[in-house]
Amino acid sequence: MRLVTYRVAAASEGRLGVVHGELVVDVERLGASIGLPFPATMLDLIDQGPDALAALDRALKDTDGKRAPGLAVPVQNVKMLAPIPRPRKNIFGIGLNYVEHVAESARTLDTSKELPAKPVVFSKPPTAVIADGEPIQHNAAMTQQLDWEVELAVIIGKRATRISKADAMSHVFGYSVINDVSARDNRRAGQWIFSKGQDSYCPFGPAIVTADEIADPHNLDLWLRKNGEEKQRSNTRHLLFDIPTLIADTSSGMTLEPGDIIATGTPAGVGAGRDPQEWMWPGDVIECGVDGIGILRNPVVKIGE
Ligand code: MG
Repeated sequence: MRLVTYRVAAASEGRLGVVHGELVVDVERLGASIGLPFPATMLDLIDQGPDALAALDRALKDTDGKRAPGLAVPVQNVKMLAPIPRPRKNIFGIGLNYVEHVAESARTLDTSKELPAKPVVFSKPPTAVIADGEPIQHNAAMTQQLDWEVELAVIIGKRATRISKADAMSHVFGYSVINDVSARDNRRAGQWIFSKGQDSYCPFGPAIVTADEIADPHNLDLWLRKNGEEKQRSNTRHLLFDIPTLIADTSSGMTLEPGDIIATGTPAGVGAGRDPQEWMWPGDVIECGVDGIGILRNPVVKIGE
């Protein structure tokens, strides 16, 4: 299933929906129409586990073609919010997780040219999250080196600590797309959070595709275009540390919870690694795609003076 958080009017609350053809079906109202208490938010759905997902899938199939009016709206009539508009905690980011990106970073940033022995984990705060279509803020007082990074995002489905690699994939609820926006000139004493955590630096969405729909998450093309021109293209099979390793490593010391997000790292082709270097500026439009998951499109907009 392709799950979204959406709203139909500017002032209304975000609602949990499932994309069904050209329609977005409202999950809570679908449940009400058949006398079942379906969740109203993405986090509620993830919290309720596999049985809730199965019940939703069944209800969608059972009511296909005979849904009451008002349960579904055309996709083009809704505004997508980030699939989880307010994550419960920081998004985990993984640095230097594609071999060629390690090389380009060592050339132009202050990172080592040795491949990391363990995943390089950092984080982005929930306040950095923006939806598909929302502006990436360019504040010239803060940065002259605003960069892009397309990434596959993994959404965790179950609370657990010290997850084994063998069991890790059963902890995945689904997948999405994240642009790990980075102000390269805001790293401080080797710490990345100011570089990666500013407001709007986590475009996320437009949907979460449930894990059952992705046959092999380690064979997905991912790409990024700036103003229509391709800047990044790779495949998740080139991840240095694969998804089970990232889940096992992260949970080795930090409990993972339903709705936690791991951005798995970006391939080569970021602006910092180009010759000459390139950055994002107001007026640019950035598109991030992961095949089978979706396309995330965000304009860059000037803020401040
Ligand atoms: Mg990144």
